[in-house]
Amino acid sequence: MDLHRKLEILADAAKYDASCASSGTELRDSSDGKGLGSTAPGMGICHSYAPDGRCISLLKVLLTNACNYDCLYCVNRTSSNVPRARFTVDEVVKLTIDFYRRNYIEGLFLSSGIIRSADYTMEQVVSVARKLREEHHFRGYIHLKTIPEADDALITEAGKYADRLSINIEMPEETSLKRLAPEKDVRAIRRTMGRLRLKLDEAKDTTAKARPPRFAPAGQSTQMIVGADAASDRTILDTSANLYGAYRLKRVYYSAFSPIPDSSRALPLAAPPLVREHRLYQADWLMRFYGFASGEIVDGDAGMLPLDIDPKLAWALRHRDRFPLDIRSASREELLRVPGFGTKAVDRILATRRFTTLRVADLARLHIPRAKALPFIVLSDHRPSPRLLEGAELVERFRPTAKQLGFGF
Ligand code: SF4
Repeated sequence: MDLHRKLEILADAAKYDASCASSGTELRDSSDGKGLGSTAPGMGICHSYAPDGRCISLLKVLLTNACNYDCLYCVNRTSSNVPRARFTVDEVVKLTIDFYRRNYIEGLFLSSGIIRSADYTMEQVVSVARKLREEHHFRGYIHLKTIPEADDALITEAGKYADRLSINIEMPEETSLKRLAPEKDVRAIRRTMGRLRLKLDEAKDTTAKARPPRFAPAGQSTQMIVGADAASDRTILDTSANLYGAYRLKRVYYSAFSPIPDSSRALPLAAPPLVREHRLYQADWLMRFYGFASGEIVDGDAGMLPLDIDPKLAWALRHRDRFPLDIRSASREELLRVPGFGTKAVDRILATRRFTTLRVADLARLHIPRAKALPFIVLSDHRPSPRLLEGAELVERFRPTAKQLGFGF
């Protein structure tokens, strides 16, 4: 099998991992000899965000899509009828270097199906990173998927070369993981996450006498599949909060389950609405940067986030007694809970109000969107009417307008 075909198969197989998300674009290529470059799918280049917020393009591939395991939600499971391919270590190294030299990518995201054993597979994954760093002096970004059952020494070595390591927790609940991925062991996953955390803490210990060894400076992350089991958004967010707290993860990624060919009857027939994934990311953001606890974001017996409005607005509408908030004197924590106020907007308000009395026109000057916030705040020239804040119509202002569906032709 030639390298191009392998790349097609192994980049396509990697696209289900949400830990770095590709952005969609129009399809173009230059196979007719005209022009330069291509946006054709299956070539494995995706975009991700570095810890400093820069957008970086990564070669995102699997070492192999053959796998001994039979996780029902995975297109690469052993019982799946898909074409299989396997890169050699040198092929991935060469592709990475070639793409890097041509300025296509700034780094590598490498994962793999499990072949022979966890240790054998992890050794292959680590070999790619080792060769890139030691033989080619590659300074680009490397994200390695870690196999939880692999030997501790291999994981330590992975951290020596990788910027980020990740282990997928896969399901929000242990019972679902047992049912859908019987070979996976949630205790091994958590144990390895715990070990990663210790090594990450050691590497950052500035009080140590000797300089600690380098270990995955961009930290660890994980991914949870949404909608493959019956877990509610509340359960998902509780699991995330626990993961952030216990293992100090940098990110939890949410990946909406997508039905796969010849899938098991244990899986739902349809994918969850994509907006559910989006709302979970917003809720996750609220926990990490806005001081919300997982338990206060989701309301109601069903434990689901509303799909039509964002979770912060939904929270504010449930807690109208806390508004209107006088933004001339409110604390940072209170300001962060105002719908439409982002962290930067709050910083600008805090800096500006030291010198001036804030008015409605100042919000525009500070590039703060007003429409969402005005019903919830008091300024020197603005106070929302109690009728507006307490009325049932307030929520209607924010609901997207219904659109007549087309007939599809
Ligand atoms: S171990 Fe990974 S690659 Fe293999 S079937 Fe499970 S999820 Fe897929």
